[in-house]
Amino acid sequence: MPNNVQVVNHPLVQHKLSMMRSKHTTTQDFRALLREISILMGYEIFKDLQTEEIDVETPLEKMKGRVLAGKKVCLVPILRAGLGFVDGLLQLVPSAQVGHAGLYRDPETLGAVEYYLKFPEDVASRRVVVVDPMLATGHSAIAAVDRVKDAEATDIKFLCLIAAPEGLAAFHKAHPDVLVCTAAIDRELSDHGYILPGIGDAGDRIFGTK
Ligand code: URA
Repeated sequence: MPNNVQVVNHPLVQHKLSMMRSKHTTTQDFRALLREISILMGYEIFKDLQTEEIDVETPLEKMKGRVLAGKKVCLVPILRAGLGFVDGLLQLVPSAQVGHAGLYRDPETLGAVEYYLKFPEDVASRRVVVVDPMLATGHSAIAAVDRVKDAEATDIKFLCLIAAPEGLAAFHKAHPDVLVCTAAIDRELSDHGYILPGIGDAGDRIFGTK
C-alpha cells in the first residue's frame, strides 16, 4: 500500500459504509449515509487546518480560544458522484468554496474525458479537497488533481469512500504528494472498471438513476 493513504477505520464510518454497500439500501438512505460519512471523514481530512489564538469572554471569565486561520478551503467534487460529499463537508466548513471537475469515464478506454471545469479564482491559495466516492482506475482522480495543480494549488488532498488497489497505485505514481483519505481499500477492479466488492455505480445510487 502506498504510504500517502489514510484509511478511516472509525466504527461509525465502517458501519455506515457497510449499510451503503448493501444493494437493499434505498436511494434516500444511501444519500443520508453518504452525508453522514462525509462529516465523519471531513473531521479527519481537516484535522491539520491551522488555527490561531483569540480572546474569548465566556459568561464567567476571559480565556484564550482557537479559531481557524491560514488557508481557506476549496472543495472540488468530480461530477457527478463527488457531489454527494459536498453537503456534509459544507456543513463542517460553511465558508468553503466549491469548484467543479466535470470528468466522465470513456466506457471503452476507461480514460477520463473532461467536459467542465470551474475553480474559484484564488484556488491556488486554498486547501483543496478533491472528492469522489470511488477511486477506481484513478484516471478521473489523476486528471482532476492535474487540473487543480495547473491552477497552481499546492495544498491538495483526495477524499473517497472506496479505493481499488490499482487506482491507488496509479494515483500515487502520478501524485505522490497528495494524501488519499478513504474509508476502505477493496479487493480489485473488474474488467469493466468497477470496484469489487464495491458499492455499484455511486452516481446511480446517489441520484437514483438506475
Ligand atoms: N465508479 C463507480 O461508481 N463505481 C465503481 O465501482 C467504479 C467507478
